Amino acid sequence: MDADNTKIGAAKGSCLCGSVTISASGLKPLVDICHCTMCRKWGGGPFMGISSDSFTISGEEHITRYASSDWAERAFCKSCGTNLWYRFTPTDHHSFLAGLFDLEALEIEQQIFVDEKPDFYDFAQKTPMKTGAQIIAEAEAQGLSFDD
Ligand SMILES: [Zn+2]
Ligand SMILES: [Zn+2]
Repeated sequence: MDADNTKIGAAKGSCLCGSVTISASGLKPLVDICHCTMCRKWGGGPFMGISSDSFTISGEEHITRYASSDWAERAFCKSCGTNLWYRFTPTDHHSFLAGLFDLEALEIEQQIFVDEKPDFYDFAQKTPMKTGAQIIAEAEAQGLSFDD
């Protein structure tokens, strides 16, 4: 399929042990990559997230949520340790780990916090590259605030 803004049909994702499943009906075939220090510490490398307008999460008793900042929650399966999503709490937006879903027709939408990316790796694809300051400015332009 073309990796434009066409939505993928129904897709099901799961953690390694299968205790947590995510059924999404409106996944966008676009991957957001975050190079920030927190994402890399969380997952061992850059975060690759995909989002959906409509989804159902099952296996609630296996999910642990961690408030990684005043505006973000990160969730993982407490049985197998698989990271599940990053949730931006002011908008309730979930960014699911792309690797939960067995999908190939994806393209990188953008890379963010490129100013925090270490030098030892680079993606070959040419994509929009945004610094942390640019991402925060975009969010503030939408009315969000990150002051404590
Ligand atoms: Zn699991
Ligand atoms: Zn990040």
